Amino acid sequence: MMKLTVLGNRGAYPKAGTACSGYLLETQKAKIVLDLGAGTLANLLSVCRLEDVSAIVITHLHWDHFSDMMVLQYALDEKNLTIPVYCPAEPEAHFNLLMGSSHFELHPISEGESVTIGDAALDFSELSHPVKNFGVRVTEGRFVFGYTGDTAKCDALDKFLEPVQTLLCDTTFFDDVESDKHMSVMQALDVAGKNGVRRLIMTHFPADARPQAYLDKARDRFNGRISMTDMMQVIQL
Ligand SMILES: [Zn+2]
Ligand SMILES: [Zn+2]
Repeated sequence: MMKLTVLGNRGAYPKAGTACSGYLLETQKAKIVLDLGAGTLANLLSVCRLEDVSAIVITHLHWDHFSDMMVLQYALDEKNLTIPVYCPAEPEAHFNLLMGSSHFELHPISEGESVTIGDAALDFSELSHPVKNFGVRVTEGRFVFGYTGDTAKCDALDKFLEPVQTLLCDTTFFDDVESDKHMSVMQALDVAGKNGVRRLIMTHFPADARPQAYLDKARDRFNGRISMTDMMQVIQL
């Protein structure tokens, strides 16, 4: 049984009272942080001690997914802690910022790689975004959770989604637009439905967006459970 806490759900920059991308995924024996964007560290600290974090996964090195790593290093320094961090090795200038801290045990992600964290098996697939972005699947027993990070619609998504039962998905655009950065609501519904995803959780909303409108649009158009993320929401997966 996994549990997901939404530490932040906005793309690019946050609206007042919200934060950018960040999630805490808990299995029986692991607490895994998925992205740590602007404003999410304080939210993480409100629900989890840093001593208890098993690992941090950064899907890609855009600021709205990893900027709070820069201040996290001060907290780790004060507590004399080191945390395993899985992230792409590029863009190099951004990766080097993480390399600058001795409190991050850095593991550059490679395509198709699998790692075990506690009782969770993680594996990574490169999806489509202007910088290298890895979707992550987390398997515990027979349950498979997937998180896209940021991605446009692409062929790699089909392979990535094949075993995924519950998907936390980039649905940045309310309306359909041609983009090499993100998916729209309808694109996400389409690709998730086609690949047999049973439960779709929409996220990565623009600062000015109203997530409820996304849900209203998507409801009744997906053959499964559909929901959206909300700040500090706890979702039983
Ligand atoms: Zn983003
Ligand atoms: Zn991005």
